[in-house]
Amino acid sequence: MGHLTKEQRSYCMSRIRSKDTKPELIFRRYIWALGLRGYRLKKKLPGKPDLYFKHGNVAVFIDGCFWHKCPTCYIAPKSNTSYWDPKIERNQQRDIEVNKTLKRSSIKVLRFWEHDIKKDPDSCYLKLLKTLA
Ligand SMILES: [Zn+2]
Repeated sequence: MGHLTKEQRSYCMSRIRSKDTKPELIFRRYIWALGLRGYRLKKKLPGKPDLYFKHGNVAVFIDGCFWHKCPTCYIAPKSNTSYWDPKIERNQQRDIEVNKTLKRSSIKVLRFWEHDIKKDPDSCYLKLLKTLA
């Protein structure tokens, strides 16, 4: 990377980072490695779950700590608050609505935080198995 400008390098690094750390991809890879198959990506279901297991009728969401206002990690942006506050608020509201809608169709909803997927995928996996059982 010696020939890249500083800007090019940081652009490049940010692309790599965001690709590697997408929590839903981490989790998909993880459960795949453990042999758990049979899920699909059901983008047509309300809320577009990251995973959907037909046999257990379980929709799994992996919520970004920023976008979904994780109580552990969320730090409110210091600038542009009139933009961010209502936006994040709407996301939270939407999550609640999506949960209700799915539950009304007898779909079990499982939500994981991004930080749990990154720090403790084992527990997430076990919780998923329990819900599927
Ligand atoms: Zn978090």
